Amino acid sequence: MANFNQELQPPIYDRSRSANFERAKKAAASIFSQYCDNCVPVDPLKVARLLGLGVQFTQFRSEISQNILGLLEIGQNTIYVNSELPTNRATFTIAHEIGHFVLHRPWAESQQYDAFWRSPNWARGNKPPEEQEADCFASNLLVPRHILKNFMQMEDDDRALAQAFCVSEDVIFYAKQDVIWWR
Ligand SMILES: [Zn+2]
Repeated sequence: MANFNQELQPPIYDRSRSANFERAKKAAASIFSQYCDNCVPVDPLKVARLLGLGVQFTQFRSEISQNILGLLEIGQNTIYVNSELPTNRATFTIAHEIGHFVLHRPWAESQQYDAFWRSPNWARGNKPPEEQEADCFASNLLVPRHILKNFMQMEDDDRALAQAFCVSEDVIFYAKQDVIWWR
């Protein structure tokens, strides 16, 4: 198991490119159709297991806990999730780390580092492309837009939709923008 008493260093991100959201969305749609029986809410623990990833809920040291939602140890095929997170944030974090596993593994392996960690502290507009892609993947895996569109015919309240998909109202707010753009 990772030694969380060491100082955790963030990966060296490739800031020379911009995020490829289309690729992230396609990957999420593919995982959803393969592993989720077209049903919501998506259980990211089940998806992780089917991909061969272990998930461990971990109590981080308090200084680390403030800065880390979760991390993916690629070499160990394990996602560590901060056990202090409320359920919907833990769910999003696991989906986000699955996104790194699906989208960024070859790149991460070539850089020879081991852990992506999910920080709540990225300055607005300064998120590295890999983090933006993992967020996009997570949002589209947990809230498939075609299903959200169907739900929105019956229910438009963000809180009710958030409960239906087991995500925060924030995630619903942004997901709705996509659906509204399609109209
Ligand atoms: Zn990340």
